[in-house]
Amino acid sequence: MAKKQFKAESKRLLEMMINSIYTQREIFLRELISNASDAIDKIYYRALTDDQLVFNKDDYFIKIQADKATRTLIISDTGIGMTKDEMENNLGIIANSGSFAFKNENELKDGHNIIGQFGVGFYSAFMVADVVTVISRALGSDEAYKWESRGADGYTIESCEKAEVGTDIILQIKENTEDDQYDEYLEEYRLKSIVKKYSDFIRYPIKMDVTSN
Ligand code: ADP
Ligand code: MG
Repeated sequence: MAKKQFKAESKRLLEMMINSIYTQREIFLRELISNASDAIDKIYYRALTDDQLVFNKDDYFIKIQADKATRTLIISDTGIGMTKDEMENNLGIIANSGSFAFKNENELKDGHNIIGQFGVGFYSAFMVADVVTVISRALGSDEAYKWESRGADGYTIESCEKAEVGTDIILQIKENTEDDQYDEYLEEYRLKSIVKKYSDFIRYPIKMDVTSN
């Protein structure tokens, strides 16, 4: 008998995942920093085999910017970036781990966390954000694209401007409710302690810039 494929209701799956895989909300930052670091690694590995590309250590870093007035938290990197197609494939297909494939190819299976291996880390951003915007420009391209989503109801992609190669992940941090506090993800001391707890081993500098008005 012919085998049939399971169908999945992706909206429900995304909601379920966001609410149950992760036990602590704060790990969203670990996941986004790990993606940023993976993106810089990709340039680093490319530079090893591409004579045209020089990996100048000072050019590669991760930056966390929080603005309390607009409730935005931005995680930027100077990594390899994404083309429009890569945005579709990497951010539009849940549990399609690009870094898993990359790490397999490069035999770098060591030291990577479980969640990060299943291609769902990025979506953990929706635990703390109503809207997630990704602005990215891929290495070797002068076009940039903006991906935006409010979570379960899908995403949009449009072209935009970006001066440098790399990616900005912009989180519109949720408002506090009676039961849940989100303000802390805009506080410098809190962000610093999360970085220290989960991302201390990251090989690239993590800069921080918090403004309150
Ligand atoms: P994983 O890291 O396991 O692949 P994620 O859900 O964390 O899964 O990320 C999905 C994919 O989105 C990544 O594999 C990568 O291709 C892409 N991506 C996410 N963040 C970035 C980034 N900052 N720069 C470039 N690509 C990114
Ligand atoms: Mg990841």
